[in-house]
Amino acid sequence: MSIAVFGSINVDITAYSRRLPRPGETVHGDSYLIGLGGKGANQAAASARLGGEVHLIGRTGQDVFANTASDELAKYGVKTALVEQADGQSTGIAIIGVDANGENVITVIGGANLSLSEGEAENARDVLIAARVLLLQNEVPWPAAQAAARITRKAGGTVILDPAPAPVQGLPPEAYALAHILTPNESETEALTQIRPENTESCQAAALVLHQRGAETVILKLGAKGLFLSAPGTQLHMPAFAVAAIDTVAAGDCFNGGLAHALSGGADLATAARFAAACGALSTTRRGAAQSA
Ligand code: ADP
Repeated sequence: MSIAVFGSINVDITAYSRRLPRPGETVHGDSYLIGLGGKGANQAAASARLGGEVHLIGRTGQDVFANTASDELAKYGVKTALVEQADGQSTGIAIIGVDANGENVITVIGGANLSLSEGEAENARDVLIAARVLLLQNEVPWPAAQAAARITRKAGGTVILDPAPAPVQGLPPEAYALAHILTPNESETEALTQIRPENTESCQAAALVLHQRGAETVILKLGAKGLFLSAPGTQLHMPAFAVAAIDTVAAGDCFNGGLAHALSGGADLATAARFAAACGALSTTRRGAAQSA
């Protein structure tokens, strides 16, 4: 049962230093890491690591980082035949600084990710039709993601939309009903609903807003507080697995990769959410984005 991921591919360049530089200042760091990032690539890597056939549809540029990205994706077993090297563009890059307390600053340059269009969804039609689950995020232009969602949905596949990073101007109204499952984290939930999901009542209230906009199933990702699942006939809070978290980068991506894996294998929603939570929890015990999958 295959999984398709339509989304962003970045190379993350992370510098670790005791403290972050202030504007105009140079600090000497301790180490650096170059790895795969971008929410599409992270979710694809997380899902492929669990086994199964995972296709990534996306774009890199024509530069040295394109090779880094495709080598890394291949290492995780992601199928990359539909990752296109866009003429004259640069690969998406994230330049990240992390201090000794785990505080970070991140500059993302979207590059080729920002030129994904309906054409790439059309080129991937066969894979999108065959997919049991399609994973989408919010780092590529919506018309392209929407075209992909329509193809998979029409063919009977399940569409999971992670509205991350938090959409500044909200999601397009049609996005809510086009996805079967919406998976915002705390800040994305607040950005979408103006309700901070802090306790059961506020989770219920936020989920209700999202349902009223057309979302069928909502999973609020609540970090160390676990998750809140709201679907027709079901509402439950699932506490997080107890782990010694050292780096929560991409926990949400590992969660979505795990969710897709479990659902594509036929698990019911609550079982799949529990499996996803275990994937998210485990990823916080390792450093990095895709590396922590
Ligand atoms: P994001 O990375 O998108 O901000 P979260 O931080 O909410 O998403 O993490 C996604 C999921 O991973 C959570 O719902 C939870 O299941 C799991 N998780 C995240 N942080 C922890 C943690 N510190 N301990 C245990 N599980 C965690």
